[in-house]
Amino acid sequence: MGKEIKNISMIGTGYLGKQIIEKSLLYNYSIKAFDIDKADLDEFTDKMKRLIKDKGLKSNISQHYTIEEAVKDADLIIEAIPEKLELKREIFPKIDEAAPPHAIIATNSSSIPISKIEDVVKRRDKVLNIHFYDLFTMPLADIMRGTQTSEETFEKGKKWLESIEIIPLEVKKECYGFVLNRIWRAIKKDCLKIWAGGYADLKTVDKAWTTFCQFFIKNELGPFQFMDRIGLDVVYDIEMSYFKNSSNLDDKPPDSLKELVERGDKGVKTGKGFYNYNSK
Ligand code: NAD
Repeated sequence: MGKEIKNISMIGTGYLGKQIIEKSLLYNYSIKAFDIDKADLDEFTDKMKRLIKDKGLKSNISQHYTIEEAVKDADLIIEAIPEKLELKREIFPKIDEAAPPHAIIATNSSSIPISKIEDVVKRRDKVLNIHFYDLFTMPLADIMRGTQTSEETFEKGKKWLESIEIIPLEVKKECYGFVLNRIWRAIKKDCLKIWAGGYADLKTVDKAWTTFCQFFIKNELGPFQFMDRIGLDVVYDIEMSYFKNSSNLDDKPPDSLKELVERGDKGVKTGKGFYNYNSK
């Protein structure tokens, strides 16, 4: 599967870039860093050199003042500059020009799909979205393809994330908000509506949420496992009730849920729902 990822170049060493560097150094990767803020880059590089020494790591880091220098030996380049499409579209061709042909270029963008950037580079099969959360408290990253990303690129990206103990959340097709942000957005959206509409006090919402989460964690349940427990026919009827109340098509439960119910796959009670319980 091509050349292994050993050398990483970080373009943009702000809040997230610094975390990606520190985490990668802890797993013995070699880092070349570039940022337009030279003073901050120098200070951070010194700090990381001390970390390497103190922890006896086999990794190394160097700071660079041109993109060309920073990416010339890279196997993986991660861009984490500000969330402005025109900035990202400006920097990607420079990276593409200077990086070795085998190198993968990923953007850490929170909202811009790589498909909106890929046309400015030649290596369209070697670009990705790798969207991190806080690397030291939330070991998850969404990973999403562009329109021409190869399976090899995708698998390499996943493997690298696993190598630094970050769980890759595979996005199967382009999705605004990736996986976790999308879930979080749904929760956030209704919490805000409940609060702004005066339906409940925000402390009540927070209490409801934290108690609910504790139940999920204690029982090791995800939303789909929980729906299977409730019964998918019940879930469907509840969603239909919301839909009838609002007449908003966004509230209509998906046909694929209806199909499961009509097939008799209603969750734990029938032995099969989203998951299969017969094999236990
Ligand atoms: P930040 O402002 O802390 O860092 C951006 C860095 O990019 C700065 O150090 C800045 O000097 C540098 N920079 C600006 N222009 C540059 C250029 N042309 N070349 C090189 N460096 C340049 O921002 P951040 O929070 O680290 O976010 C960076 C990216 O990561 C954004 O796309 C953002 O959406 C994404 N992201 C942020 C978070 C978060 O929690 N902050 C989480 C996930 C993803």
